Formats: sequence, structure tokens, C-alpha cells
Amino acid sequence: MDRLRQPRPELGDISPYDAKDVRAEVNLSANENPHNLPGELLEKLADRVRFDVPFNRYPDPMATRLRELIAEANGLDAANVLVGNGGDEIILDIILAWGGPGRKLVDMPPTFAMYGIDARMTGTRVVEVPRTPEFEVDGPALMRAVAEQDPDIIVVSNPNNPTGTMTPETLLIDLLEATDALVLADEAYFEFSRQTMRPHMSRHPNLAILRTFSKAFSLAGLRAGYLLADTTVVSELTKVRQPYSVNRFTQVAAELAFRDRVVFEAGVREAMRNRDRLVHGLSQMAEVAVFPSEANYILFRIDQAAAVWRDLLHDHSILVRDFSRTPGLEDCLRVTVGSEEEVDRFLKAMDEIVARKHASAHFGINATANRHLERSGE
Ligand code: PMP
Repeated sequence: MDRLRQPRPELGDISPYDAKDVRAEVNLSANENPHNLPGELLEKLADRVRFDVPFNRYPDPMATRLRELIAEANGLDAANVLVGNGGDEIILDIILAWGGPGRKLVDMPPTFAMYGIDARMTGTRVVEVPRTPEFEVDGPALMRAVAEQDPDIIVVSNPNNPTGTMTPETLLIDLLEATDALVLADEAYFEFSRQTMRPHMSRHPNLAILRTFSKAFSLAGLRAGYLLADTTVVSELTKVRQPYSVNRFTQVAAELAFRDRVVFEAGVREAMRNRDRLVHGLSQMAEVAVFPSEANYILFRIDQAAAVWRDLLHDHSILVRDFSRTPGLEDCLRVTVGSEEEVDRFLKAMDEIVARKHASAHFGINATANRHLERSGE
């Protein structure tokens, strides 16, 4: 045979998640923690690895020690906790278990892309309830969709990635009252927003809460996330999950990080200070519209955003996330709250780019576009 059979037709409509591997001196594109694990934790991890981690053995499928720690900290039983290979794996597990052909997921774009990607990939129908122009959940439209479409899963990124918007607790409670669909409150940025739906779990067995070690806990590279949910939800998810998805090394590192979680508090406070500086700095620029954020990133709108993205990268070696081609986010970029130096460097670069745009506008030329034409030789 010199041919390859087509994969499932659903894949035709899917674009891969766009995690660009672009090199830059300053990476403010993926909402990671700007700092690696603190030195004391690295030491502890090295000790554990040297003496106490049999890499030749499969890991504990349920990450029992980590699961127990997380349960205790959240006033729950271990049976209410599922650990996954990043929050991403748990999102897929939920859609595998509650979605699939003939079932529906409510998505509220613009939001985190993986909900829609996983839904399409599994043949789950996506019911879109677009956010308002201010990126808030459209409460009446959501309630209508719930009543008319009777969905199986409803996902709310809270705060919403990439817009930073929080959904009012009262709206989520109304939603939980109105449906028996699995409602996933994705609290990946909980440590920054400090707001959670956790108190509502006991009254609503259909509420599941997703958190991650990738942001406040500096562990994006090791892939660990967890779900807080009713025991039935957790046990159903164990039917679809990959049994060994969370490796031994990750389990040990996440355990150490979670046990010592107070050490990350300083980083969260630093991020809050730097977020204020970023918001303040960007707001000073007349051509920039900044959206309020409860997370460790900020979305902003600027004319010719794609060109600004390229200038940041090519002229300043700063990588931010370009959302300008995402429906509803035209001319929007998202910048992660970096370290103090990174924020300074980003704001200085933006000042220069904006000043150049001004100068070129004054002379009636599109300098950004011209410079790119020159650079590419076109
Ligand atoms: N949910 C949201 C809203 C996110 O932004 C992310 C990470 N970008 C995730 C879930 C998944 O995070 P991870 O897989 O790194 O735990």
C-alpha cells in the first residue's frame, strides 16, 4: 500500500492546541510561575529521589499520598480527589466519561481552548454560549441553553483564561440549582483569585473543581493537576483515565510542594504586586485597553496586535500570547505576570513599540508593517 487511511472524521475540524515552541529570553506566554521551585524544595526533592523513589516500579495509579494531602487540606476524603497528568488530562477524562457521541458540552468562548478541542475530538456536541463583550458569562443565555439543550457537561473557567474574568458565585449557584449536568469549575488560577466554589460541593454533587500545580506551585514542567468532586464522579473517572499517567517523580515533587505550600505564598503576593504594575503601566498607554484580571495574566487590546506580538518577539525577545485571530479576541494579546525584571522589560518594550507607532502615524506610514516587509525581504 502507498496510502494511509483517514483518521476519524471529527479530527478534520480540529486544530491542535497552539502551544508554540518559540524561543525568547522572556517567556510571558503560558501563565507559568516565573520562578523555579525554591532551592530548599529542590534539595528535598533531590534527597527523596536519591534514597526513596524506585523508578523501576510503576507509580501508584491513584497517587494516594498526594491525594490524601489534598483531601485533608480541602476538608474532604481521599475518595473526593483525583490527581491527573496536569489539569488537561482531567478535562479530557471528564469529557470521555460525561461526553461522547450524542452528548453535549456547554462552552463559553472566548475561553480555554482545550474544552472545545477535547469535546470535538470525542464526538461531543459543543453548545457555545458566547461571553458578553466584557467577557462575562451571559447568565440569561446560559440558563436558556441549559433549559433548551439539556447539556451533559458545563465548563466554566474561573477566572477565565485568557480574559481573567471571574463569574459571580451567585450565577454559578443558580446554574447548579438548574441542572444535573456535571458543572466543572476550572479553578486553575485559584491561588491568585483566592475564590473558590468549594463551599458548594456538599449541596451539589454535580459540582467538580479543577486545580493545578502548574501555576502557583511552579510545576508546569512535571504535569500535575487535581479534581475535587463527589466520590461518584471520581470513581467514574477512574474507568476512563490512564492508570499510570502521573509518574513517580511528579507524585513526589507535587507532594513536597503541597506539604510546603506556604513557601509559594510569597510568589503569589509578588505576582499580585507585579500584576498591579503591569495593569498600571499598560493603562498609561493611550492605545492599549486593559481588561481586569483575577489571575496571573492580563489580556489587553491594541491596534495591529499581531504586529505588536512580532515586534515584542523580534526586537525585544519577549514572547506573549497572540489571541488576535481568536473570535471575540480580535487585536488581543495576553501577557503572563512575570518577575519584576520581566515586567519592567515588557513595559519598556511596549513603550517603545507604542512610541514608534505614534511616530509612524504622525508621518502617515505604517512603520510596523514596513519594518516587517523589510525584514522578510518581501
Ligand atoms: N485550565 C485552565 C483554565 C488553564 O489555563 C490551564 C493551563 N493553561 C489548564 C486548565 C491546564 O493546566 P495543566 O494541564 O498545566 O494543569
